[in-house]
Amino acid sequence: MSITIDSYNTDVKNTWCPGCGNFNIHLALKKALAELKKDPSEVVITFDIGCNGNGGDKIKAFNIKGLHGRALPIAIGAHLANREMTTIATIGDGGCLHEGIDHLIHGIRSNYNITVLIHNNQNFALTTGQITSTTIKGKRMYGFPHGKTEGDINIGELVLSLNPSFYARGYSGDCIHLTEIIKEGIKHRGFSVIEIIQLCPTYNREFSHDVASKLVKKVDVSDSIEKARKHILNSKNLSIGVLYQNKKLTDYYSSLKNRKSIKTELVDEVKRKNISNILAKL
Ligand code: SF4
Ligand code: MG
Repeated sequence: MSITIDSYNTDVKNTWCPGCGNFNIHLALKKALAELKKDPSEVVITFDIGCNGNGGDKIKAFNIKGLHGRALPIAIGAHLANREMTTIATIGDGGCLHEGIDHLIHGIRSNYNITVLIHNNQNFALTTGQITSTTIKGKRMYGFPHGKTEGDINIGELVLSLNPSFYARGYSGDCIHLTEIIKEGIKHRGFSVIEIIQLCPTYNREFSHDVASKLVKKVDVSDSIEKARKHILNSKNLSIGVLYQNKKLTDYYSSLKNRKSIKTELVDEVKRKNISNILAKL
C-alpha cells in the first residue's frame, strides 16, 4: 500500500482555533513523512504540553507526550534505543526556551540524529497568552498588562552560537516550503533544528498572515554560520529556508567508540536480558 498524507491521519478532530498555524505545520509534517516514504510504524514523534502538544493524537505514529519542555529528552532516549526509527521532537517556544532550554543546548552540542520542530508563536498560548522569550519586548500580554519588560531570545542566534549541524526556519503560512524544509531536516544526519514562525491569531493577532507574508523571504542553503547570522539579524525580512547546514559533524551515536562494531540496536539487546527480578520488585 502506498504511503500518503492520509496514512498519517487519525479520527481525532483538531481543536485549534480557526487560522492557527498548527494546521499547516501538521499538514507539512505529514506530507514530508509521506513524501519520504516513511511508514507511520517507522516514526516516533514526541510532544510536550501546549497547543502543538494537543496534536499528539492527531497524527498516526509512535507518539509520546511528556511534561512541559521535555519533548527533547524523550526523543533523544527513543532515538538512542532504536536508530532505525525516524525521530522527531515537536515543542513550542515557551517549553523549548524556558523549561527545556538546557535540552536544546545540549542536544545541539551532542548532535543526536533527530529533528526538532520549534513552534514559535511568540507566547504560551495554551494557558491564554502569557509572554515567552520570543514575545516582542513591550507587547502587552496576560499577566503583563503594561508590556513585556525583559529582553528576548532570538532562536536562530542562540542555535548558531552553538556550532549546530542544521538550522532552518520555516513559516506556517507556506506549507509547501515548510514541507521541503522538514524533509531536509529529516534527511540530514545530525541534530536538525527547525524553527517555525507560527501564526497564533488568538494571542498574537498583530502578527497576522498579511504582516508575516510581507516579511518572509526565501534564502538558499548555506554552509557559512556568518552568512546565516546575517540573515537572522536582518530586521527588514524574516529569512526562511535551510539557513545553515554542516554535513561534516559526526552524530552522537556514530562517535561512540564502544558501539563501533555493534550492529544491533539497544532495543534489541534489552530483550536478551532477564529483567523479571527487577520487575517483581516494583
Ligand atoms: Fe493556535 Fe494560538 Fe489558538 Fe493555540 S491559542 S490553538 S496557538 S491560534
Ligand atoms: Mg508558544
